[in-house]
Amino acid sequence: MNLRQHPGRLFSARLRVVRAASYFEVFMKEKLLPRISLLVALVVAISIAGGGQQTQTQIAPSVERLRTHIEHLASDKLEGRRTGSPGANLAAEYIAREFSRYGLRRSIGYDTPGMSHFEADSPKRYMQQFPYVAGVELGKANKLSFSLADNVPLNELRLGDDWMPLGSSSNGQIETGAAVFVGFGIAASELKYDEYSTVDARGKIAFAFTGTPDGDNPHGPFARYEDPRWKAIAAKNAGAKALILISQQRQFADEPLSRLQYNNSGGEAGLPVAIISSRAFFASPNESDLTVQLGLVKQGHTPTVTFKSPVTLSVDITRRAVPAYNVVGILDGSDPTLKNETIVIGAHYDHLGRGGEGSLAPREGDIHHGADDNASGTAGLLELARIFSEQRSRPRRTLVFIAFSGEEEGLLGSNYYVNHPIMPLTNTVAMINMDMIGRMKDNKLIVGGAGTAQEWRQVIAAANASERIRVTATPESSGDISKTSTSSIGSGVPMVTGINGRTIVSLVIEKSFDLTLNEDGFGPSDHSSFYAKQIPVLFLWTGTHEDYHKPSDTADKINYADEARVLAFVARVVRDVDNNDKRPVYTVAKSEATGRSTGFRVYLGTIPNYADSSDGLLLDGVRDDSPAAKAGIKAGDKIVKLAGRDVKNVYDYTYALGEMKAGQEYDVELMRGGERLKLKIVPAARK
Ligand SMILES: [Zn+2]
Repeated sequence: MNLRQHPGRLFSARLRVVRAASYFEVFMKEKLLPRISLLVALVVAISIAGGGQQTQTQIAPSVERLRTHIEHLASDKLEGRRTGSPGANLAAEYIAREFSRYGLRRSIGYDTPGMSHFEADSPKRYMQQFPYVAGVELGKANKLSFSLADNVPLNELRLGDDWMPLGSSSNGQIETGAAVFVGFGIAASELKYDEYSTVDARGKIAFAFTGTPDGDNPHGPFARYEDPRWKAIAAKNAGAKALILISQQRQFADEPLSRLQYNNSGGEAGLPVAIISSRAFFASPNESDLTVQLGLVKQGHTPTVTFKSPVTLSVDITRRAVPAYNVVGILDGSDPTLKNETIVIGAHYDHLGRGGEGSLAPREGDIHHGADDNASGTAGLLELARIFSEQRSRPRRTLVFIAFSGEEEGLLGSNYYVNHPIMPLTNTVAMINMDMIGRMKDNKLIVGGAGTAQEWRQVIAAANASERIRVTATPESSGDISKTSTSSIGSGVPMVTGINGRTIVSLVIEKSFDLTLNEDGFGPSDHSSFYAKQIPVLFLWTGTHEDYHKPSDTADKINYADEARVLAFVARVVRDVDNNDKRPVYTVAKSEATGRSTGFRVYLGTIPNYADSSDGLLLDGVRDDSPAAKAGIKAGDKIVKLAGRDVKNVYDYTYALGEMKAGQEYDVELMRGGERLKLKIVPAARK
């Protein structure tokens, strides 16, 4: 607003001092003062006018440093930082060297297995290694042969050109197996649709088209059954020995499933699964065959496909494990007692590489720069590490700075950390996670986990309130942050005006962040792993945008000035927690309906562990008052059977969930401390 429109409020010839009350009226009219309590703040601020900036004694986050970090991390050189890739390892080394520069203690000691060969100053000493499957390789014994027609001789299909095992496939050999055609291979009881109901697939190899009767509709009822993992489970449940999917692509090279990829959070399918080209399947160059067959399937008919010869299938693949790294730097606390308690500040540094799983890009191969997701949080982590290590008074508690990897593929790094903590979790008093904090718009900041500690609402309010008042010498030299962040300035009120009318001292009222608080401690990022261990968490996020998970998430689109303000906010939260002798009191948060919605009609309230998925579904937690809690299920339980279905991984589990009905009682079997328990559970209807 233009203050010169209100000349009556200015007085004094040489030094015109502004009366606070009259400006307050203006503010009220302009709706710049949301709360009466600010009047008090205003008066207090005026009484210290000229007393310097509130942040003067503390080191402020630097816009330039943030820019340097993000431009490097999101550069082409780091190739999108896909977990386990050379680009991700370069990022890890960069973070480790920064930690070293700030004098953070190395987290990995000489006694850590496998670490003794590293030099004392090796960046590896900041790195916590965890296992990760980076890729899948073909073995020598892959074979597929069959024939559909009498006049077509039994032919052995060419690996790569005609067919390919899936990355999630189990290894196995089926000599001269019987085969059966099962349409799309979908069994969805909630849709009353089961393509295995009319055929006997037991002991046979099931052939099914990729896709669903909905075609490509991502919002159709069948959408989630398109995933080959679902189809594999349906085949397994029907007793099939293997599943072979038939591509709908004209060119097999265009078929995404032919690319032999592995999903780290999914685990193994439990039976051999492969994809073949439609051409190979119909053993005919005539495309009309495919169209006819597909048309029949879509109309609800399962065409009779007669296999003239037995099918031979052999799958032989090796999953290639490579190391992945969390980067951990420690700033020891200054208080002899409180230093045994730690505050974890975290951000994931991995991203999507050149696309693939998780990418929303129309095509694969382009570098996904991940400037906001999450070079922004990583740069913030580095800035906070610098600020807290450089400031004169050390925090009393120990700060643990962690740059996580494997986040994009299912919170793998944070999950590994909470199960292999470097500092004891019982003494970890809070975890603060920054994920995508670089695209602030309209001053909007989302804070998750607000319900996970008794003190959080107060701490958040205090951190947000102190953002509001700033007394500056002139508007032009108001410091690093406000100078570059005009959008954050609500208004500058001249306190002292020179003869020529120029403002000498002004009271700048910054708009506080427009906060959205989410209660839940579970959410789509690494804080989830800590909350599952009953640690109070906070999650900072500036919201999603059109470049999310696309190559176009680049460094030039970052709102650096407002990111610096977010970091100042986080620093205030950390100081507040640290200044309190009492650690935050963990509380069970109300879960958000919009949290990790699976889209299923029934709701159990379990929090699956997405990294562990081979011999049951390990639960990270159970939501309060949920059907799972009422059934007596606890965090750490491993579900092995649900509603009559064997559960080996999260896919099996969700599949079983899809068959359950709200209000009915089901058996659930789980492992707890080496014991197998059988409980009863009644699912609730999902809102
Ligand atoms: Zn992401």
